[in-house]
Amino acid sequence: MRVSVDLDVCQGHGVCHMSAPDVFELDETDGHAIVQVDPVPAELQDEAQLSADSCPERAISVS
Ligand code: SF4
Repeated sequence: MRVSVDLDVCQGHGVCHMSAPDVFELDETDGHAIVQVDPVPAELQDEAQLSADSCPERAISVS
């Protein structure tokens, strides 16, 4: 699985970090999501998918 964040769309809510703390970190300055692992290992794929589904801005893409 590949995961990416559209930083033009991300508003820094942090939902992704709460859903998948091992996949997404938050930028200390603007709160935007930073992908930590790409490709996403098998054990984290459910979390990554949950984050993509939960992002209020639909900024996360998985493929
Ligand atoms: S949940 Fe979505 S909008 Fe919020 S920080 Fe994560 S990627 Fe950005």
